[in-house]
Amino acid sequence: MKDIQRFIAGFRTFQENYFGPEATHFEPLKEGQSPKTMIIGCSDSRVDPAILTNCAPGDLFTVRNVANLVPPCEEDGGRHGVSAALEFAVCHLGVEHIVVLGHSQCGGIKALMAGSCGCKGGGFITNWMEIAVPARERVLTELADKDAALQQRAAEQAGILLSLENLHSFPFIHQRVSGGSLSLHGWYFDLAEGALLEYRPELGRFEPLH
Ligand SMILES: [Zn+2]
Repeated sequence: MKDIQRFIAGFRTFQENYFGPEATHFEPLKEGQSPKTMIIGCSDSRVDPAILTNCAPGDLFTVRNVANLVPPCEEDGGRHGVSAALEFAVCHLGVEHIVVLGHSQCGGIKALMAGSCGCKGGGFITNWMEIAVPARERVLTELADKDAALQQRAAEQAGILLSLENLHSFPFIHQRVSGGSLSLHGWYFDLAEGALLEYRPELGRFEPLH
């Protein structure tokens, strides 16, 4: 219950900041949202996109899942949460940027590299992480002689690139990127260093953003 009490107290602070007598931030947001950026981040408690970017309500349209993955476009009638969020952000909100935000020490990628989630029953994680199997294969081929820590970091970054590739499999995204109205970004948060890196296609690697 300690956590829950802390969250309720936290909400009171939020309420004062955004709905107190001096607060104006939420006034336009009561009518609707118009964020210009969508972030796809990991569910990991240490990598909240809004906290990392010091953003306020209304700034970011966010999807978080295990290992910040974007599945390929599959029009099979399945319940595709990430795809639905992409469609809403791109076709209805008209976002101008999509950021795939990966991070170091990612548990999802660790499970991917181990070849299983190690959990009993369910198997949802293993099934979900199958999206990133091509990233694992690429790393194990190209960095076969490297240690596990280096392979893990490479797989975290390869997973971001795979998600960027998968974004292109959605026709409504591919068209807008080709037309110049939508930009895609691959970011990597190194939580040991406290650093943010960006994929630079012209260099073929991640470089510090700041
Ligand atoms: Zn993660």
